[in-house]
Amino acid sequence: MVKKADPDIVDDWPRLAHIFAEIQTKNRSLYTDRVKSPSDWGLLDAHASDQALFEELSFQLFGAGFSRTVVRNRWPATREAFCEFDLAKVAAFDAERLEQLVANPALIRNRRKLAAVVTNATRVLEIIQAHGTLRAWLDSYPVAERYLLHREVARRFASIGERAAFWFLISSGYELFYSTDDTRRLLDRLGLLDQKERSRARLNQVMVGFSEASGAGLWAVSRDLHRFASGYRMKEPVCAERPRCPKCPLWDDCHFFNA
Ligand code: SF4
Repeated sequence: MVKKADPDIVDDWPRLAHIFAEIQTKNRSLYTDRVKSPSDWGLLDAHASDQALFEELSFQLFGAGFSRTVVRNRWPATREAFCEFDLAKVAAFDAERLEQLVANPALIRNRRKLAAVVTNATRVLEIIQAHGTLRAWLDSYPVAERYLLHREVARRFASIGERAAFWFLISSGYELFYSTDDTRRLLDRLGLLDQKERSRARLNQVMVGFSEASGAGLWAVSRDLHRFASGYRMKEPVCAERPRCPKCPLWDDCHFFNA
């Protein structure tokens, strides 16, 4: 019988550091492409101004449900249509201006998304009035609870789902983790997370534990756990649905293997 997740295991840093080092070593021998960075999913390299953050937020808004390539191809026209994302100008768009956007064939002509950009310009200005800058508002969220910040962003802005909010934060330089079903299955097998338990707090505890024990950032931790468990862009998966235990370096640490 598989053991339940042990609540104290995430405090066992030597064990976590050992597990992660083994995963990274194995992954390095199996990668088949370059390692992607968070900025691959974003638009801008730098987000020094609120205008740039607003543009990135809008890019992620359009990216939900569309391929990033389609959105990127249309971005020069989108920038022009939205006055380079000048907040005051966009917030002042009226119904007639919105109709012009909806009729513009160079744009992604989704009325809800186009209208949401205008609404969000107003919301960013409200935040700036209350907090000084959009960045200051984002940074005011407690660091220990930053894994929930994407929910606050999604709640605050129009037509921004939690996923789009997550990519907005990642692209804007926030250090966050992501998880997939493959990742959670791996952590379950290692006794770190009960897969049925959907507590994001526990998942955060595990990811932070790996990060602090290994010195790797949360993004790097997420990426390597996911690859090891899914085989994404690797020569072969290791701990996929049908685990390749004979090829795995984690026998000694695996509840599933030792059950
Ligand atoms: S020993 Fe098997 S089940 Fe355990 S982590 Fe490795 S591949 Fe997965």
